[in-house]
This record gives sequence, C-alpha cells and structure tokens, in this order.
Amino acid sequence: MFSFTPIGYIQSCFREKFGIPRQPGLAPAARATLELVPPYARAEMVRGLQGYSHVWLLFVFHGVPAGRWQPMVRPPRLGGNRRLGVFATRSTFRPNPLGLSVVTLDGIGSHAGRVVLHLSGVDLLDGTPVLDIKPYLPYADCLPEARSALAPEAPAWRPVHFSAAAAAFCARQPEGGALRELIEQVLRQDPQPAYQHAATARRYGMRLYDYDVRWELRDDGAWVMDIVPATG
Ligand code: SAM
Repeated sequence: MFSFTPIGYIQSCFREKFGIPRQPGLAPAARATLELVPPYARAEMVRGLQGYSHVWLLFVFHGVPAGRWQPMVRPPRLGGNRRLGVFATRSTFRPNPLGLSVVTLDGIGSHAGRVVLHLSGVDLLDGTPVLDIKPYLPYADCLPEARSALAPEAPAWRPVHFSAAAAAFCARQPEGGALRELIEQVLRQDPQPAYQHAATARRYGMRLYDYDVRWELRDDGAWVMDIVPATG
C-alpha cells in the first residue's frame, strides 16, 4: 500500500464544482494560489521552479465522495449520452480519485512564512489537496502529433451577454474587470450538466470568489442577469 500526504492546498476562485471548466487553460482568468504546508513549506523546495511558465499539479478530487468510482462514465463533453470506460476519460469518478492539470505559474511568493504559488488557467475546486508539483517540459510534454478521436478540440464558445445590472455591478467593484473576464470565460463554455441540456428551466447560479452569479441560457447565448455578494 502507498500513503500520500498533501504538500499544499489550493485556494481557488471556484467555490463550488458547478461552473469549473472541464480542463485547465479553458478559462485563463481563473486564478488560484497553492500554499505549501509543513514540512514542505520551504523556499528551497521550489528553488528553480520560477524558471518555468507552467506546472503539472497532481491532486485529489476531494469533492467526490469516497468510493464513488464507476467502471463506465458518461462524459459531459460528449453530450452525456455516450458511455466510456473510466480510463478513457478524465472523469472525477475514478478508482483512485487523482486529478492532473497543467496550469500557468504566474509567480512564487510567500504568506505567513509559507511558500505560495500563484496560478491561473485552473480547473480546481477551492480547497483541493495537492500531492505533487512538477515543471511542464515542452520538449517532452508537448506532443503536436497526439491523437484524440473522442474530444479532438476545445469546446466551441458561445456568446456571453451582461444585463445592465450585472455590468453595473462589475463596474462598481475594484476588481470588476477581472471578475467580468472570468465570468465570460466560464460561461462561454458549457457549464450546465449535460442532462439539463433539454430542460426548460434554463436559469442557473454559480459561486465565483465571494459572489453569486445568476445567469440564463437563451437562444442567443448566456445572459448574466445578476451578481450579488455571497451569503452563507
Ligand atoms: N484536469 C484534471 C484531470 O484531467 O484530471 C481534472 C479534469 S475534471 C474533468 C475537471 C472537473 O473536476 C471540474 O470541472 C470540476 O467540476 C471537478 N473538480 C475540480 N477540482 C475538484 C475537486 N477537488 N474535487 C472534485 N471535483 C473537482
């Protein structure tokens, strides 16, 4: 048997699973920090890492209840009606609930004496335990000839519109431009569960940072109706 200890934890703009992109890089404005914890919170353990633009993170899908793996899954990316072997997918419902993401390394700092990595383009839930960090090596990790028959390209984007109230809310916030950019990048994808595609109720809510974002799916795209500070 093996036993692994988290080397650190993610603090992410994604406070709940709904809305998180299905892979890293799809929302470049999605930011997170990774704070290392003792006995790994030592500056020497990341010495040299600042020379890399991207890192691989190996992490635990801690938001999936233990033991919930399935031999076959229906990837939302394929419309939710095709069953594939779990090892042919990036599903979170795996025998060992391990995730793997390549993310942008924006910088390395410290907080209360601990090492903090500043990341973007993440697809990680707030609180995610990280087991390892490895530098992304373009000569070995970038494979232009790689085949992907089932999901050959990133999903198509749809238009995202803001109501006057939502646009005004962003305009009033000190970081409102970044918030608006994040909402656009998240909603231009397809965040609703596949099984809801044909549903008539097309109103949704998601939490980003400490904001509740309410939006509707209409024929001409996603409409951000309302943004309110989260309570509870
Ligand atoms: N890039 C990783 C991989 O391939 O292993 C994750 C891919 S997985 C399809 C991405 C989804 O995992 C996100 O959309 C989000 O809903 C979910 N997720 C992210 N962090 C999680 C966590 N800590 N626990 C449970 N689910 C998580």
